[in-house]
Amino acid sequence: MDNPDLLKETTPAKEGSLDSVCIGRARSFAQIFASIAILIAVLVLVGWVLGIDILKRIGPGFPSTKVNSALCFIFTAGALFLGHLTPVRPWKKTCSFVLLAMVMLISGLTLAEFFTGWSFGIDQLFLKDQDAVSTEWPLGRMDGNSAITFLSYALAVLYLFRGKHGTAIAQVLVVAGLLLTLLTVTGFLFGVRIFSSFFSFSGLAVLTQADFILLGLSILCAHPGEGMVSIILADNPGGFVARRLIAPAILTPVFFGWIAKEGLSHGYYDAGFACLLIVLISMVVVCAIAARSVVELNRIEKERQLLSAARFQSDVRERGALEASRLKSEFVANVSHEIRTPMNGVLGMVNLLLGSNLTHEQREQAETIRQSGDALLNLVNEILDFSKIEAGKVQLDEKPFSLVDCADEVFNLLSTTARRNKVNLIFFVSAETPHYFRGDASRLRQVLINLVGNAVKFTDEGEVSLEITSVQHGGVHHQLEFQVADTGIGISPGALPLLFRPFQQVDASATRRHGGTGLGLAISKHLIDLMDGEITVSSILSVGSTFRFKIPLRACPPPSGAETEENLKLPPQSRFLLFAKGGKFPALLKRQIEAWDGEAQVVADPMAVIEMRDTTFAAVLMDNNSETMALAAQMKFDPAWNKIPRVLLDFEESLPPEKASLYPKRLAKPFKRLALHALLLELTGVQKVAKPVSAPASPAPLAQKIPLRILLAEDNHINQKVGLALLKRLGYSADIANNGREALEAVMRDRYDLVLLDIQMPEMDGIEAAQAMREKLKEKCPHLIAVTANVFAGAREEYLSKGFNDYLGKPLLPETLRQTVVRAAESLSSRPPAS
Ligand code: ADP
Repeated sequence: MDNPDLLKETTPAKEGSLDSVCIGRARSFAQIFASIAILIAVLVLVGWVLGIDILKRIGPGFPSTKVNSALCFIFTAGALFLGHLTPVRPWKKTCSFVLLAMVMLISGLTLAEFFTGWSFGIDQLFLKDQDAVSTEWPLGRMDGNSAITFLSYALAVLYLFRGKHGTAIAQVLVVAGLLLTLLTVTGFLFGVRIFSSFFSFSGLAVLTQADFILLGLSILCAHPGEGMVSIILADNPGGFVARRLIAPAILTPVFFGWIAKEGLSHGYYDAGFACLLIVLISMVVVCAIAARSVVELNRIEKERQLLSAARFQSDVRERGALEASRLKSEFVANVSHEIRTPMNGVLGMVNLLLGSNLTHEQREQAETIRQSGDALLNLVNEILDFSKIEAGKVQLDEKPFSLVDCADEVFNLLSTTARRNKVNLIFFVSAETPHYFRGDASRLRQVLINLVGNAVKFTDEGEVSLEITSVQHGGVHHQLEFQVADTGIGISPGALPLLFRPFQQVDASATRRHGGTGLGLAISKHLIDLMDGEITVSSILSVGSTFRFKIPLRACPPPSGAETEENLKLPPQSRFLLFAKGGKFPALLKRQIEAWDGEAQVVADPMAVIEMRDTTFAAVLMDNNSETMALAAQMKFDPAWNKIPRVLLDFEESLPPEKASLYPKRLAKPFKRLALHALLLELTGVQKVAKPVSAPASPAPLAQKIPLRILLAEDNHINQKVGLALLKRLGYSADIANNGREALEAVMRDRYDLVLLDIQMPEMDGIEAAQAMREKLKEKCPHLIAVTANVFAGAREEYLSKGFNDYLGKPLLPETLRQTVVRAAESLSSRPPAS
């Protein structure tokens, strides 16, 4: 029973080291023992009152338990309950003291009677023993042994009130009482009267002795976490041996001693043989039990050593793995920082170059540098992202966002590539899907950009579609399904299981052609997992792939004034004819028009169109295919059809005149949802009320509108040049500081409105410099912007908390810099004038 416990890490036996379960169990035993002791004593009293013999003693050959003893049992056990086995209250403590005082009074008077020979009438206090076995001793008086044991128990319960050290003394007192009980029992067994009762011999009151044992054990278990009891109960080898040996060490000599004595009294052998018998048998039994315990202990110790060696090794491994992962994250962050710094130079300069007058060839070359730079930056971002996700450092935001805007942003980002590759990009959000949800829009956008980006990348012709549907919902809780389908190269069945593993590029040849890190899908899967969603994929080689993921999202009401699908309803009876075939495009276009309350009829056969003779359509939308031109020409020369505007949907930037004349209207694919809506409205004759637009940005440099004195603190010379040139494009000529110390000196010397502080600089870094500026200049401190290549989620909040007003990640982009300067100007103008 002990063994599994002992396999736990053993601790040296010390007081108070028991676990709460063991302490709880021991206290329950204490309550049970004390209750039984009270029960026996009450039954004895009942026996005395009602004259029921069997309740007072176990049989006619044995004396009854005395009334005084029964009362003392009830008082002592009651005091134990009130003072130690139930929640302590001051009144209970007082009652406990009173009960103990009574026990001590009764037992003390009994002993005094014995020593003095006087009678205080203690035996007359209660009922008289009418059927006592002995007449030598007053009938109601308890034995001297019992009086001593009661005194030691009552003192023990008193000592328990005195904390840890009191408990140790209490346990010694109880053990003394128990030994006396044992002596009384063995004295009786062996017929040694002086041990059985110090003062008289009236036989053995078995119920009294049993009650003493129960009461003694319950006092010992009342505070099991302290004193010698805690050592015996401890979950360690000491406790184990103690529990094994105590009972046999006591009972073996008692039992075999009695057997030897019985044999002797029957004359089976002489006294010498009897002694030898007791000694030998006790030796053998105790040694056998000790030997068994030692063997058991050795086995347990061996297992424990193996276990702790294994644990040590796994700890070392775990610590090693944690350290390795920390070093890896640190390394990746450092590499990312080191790559971003020169990238700032490359991209900054190339952006400046693209803003200057270049020949066509030079522009193409500069554009290639920019694209390569962007790709490199993307790679760094993905590696950084992946290492953060692996280290479990990504936390999702929970803010309201527009799902449709999120999808539109993905569309805007990828539509240029799709148009260049002549791949149709179709986004569809089902009518029953709410527009506003709470969640992490930027992480959802990241997943969509990756999936739709891959679909566009691996599709040479055909279409890529994104469908968003709410597949299940209860109240505001929606299960959204995102389905990204393409008609691209597809993925072989063998490669599908590897797809979401990091750095897996299933078709190296295709990937080499298209570029990529093999991290996008692994990151996407991690993010979807974080959102409590799941992603699946199905694909057929050379036919196409479909990635589906589902995530639970909570819908929220649209912010006031937000554009909702309700605002996009088309006028009643807006009917359109769609001439299109193949893929999902016709069906999704039809569903989109219907979602706006319009009506759309899809026809794939040109002959069927001509034969329709239904000319109540607001327009004919004609997807470009080999038959479109012929059909358009036929419709143009058909007086009925010619009244209905024809709209060509194609990828061309411009059309040759003979083709252009066939179509009064054109919509270049891939088209935005809202561009289609505006065109449909126009075709139904509704003039869209133009939204008031802000005045076009003035071509004059920003510096003319917002004059500012700017200091740029940057240690890298190339990045100094980039920063200066980008600021110059905004019309500012900034001063330079090579490190934080120089920047601090400069702001102390001259007045600046704005300081761009690189974070990692020699001598004094950006954070130290910012804090020193704030401390020294107080409210006159310039607007401080942290500029860093150490881009991480939450960087803005972190730098703002360190004393900066704003944050810019490298590489610096002209537009972001402009917006930051405008923000700085707004914040400076709202400051109270310096006194
Ligand atoms: P990468 O940056 O290389 O695109 P991903 O993790 O996004 O990394 O994709 C891993 C690989 O999965 C790609 O290299 C490609 O071989 C395959 N793959 C992903 N999406 C598609 C798709 N829509 N069609 C075909 N192959 C795909």
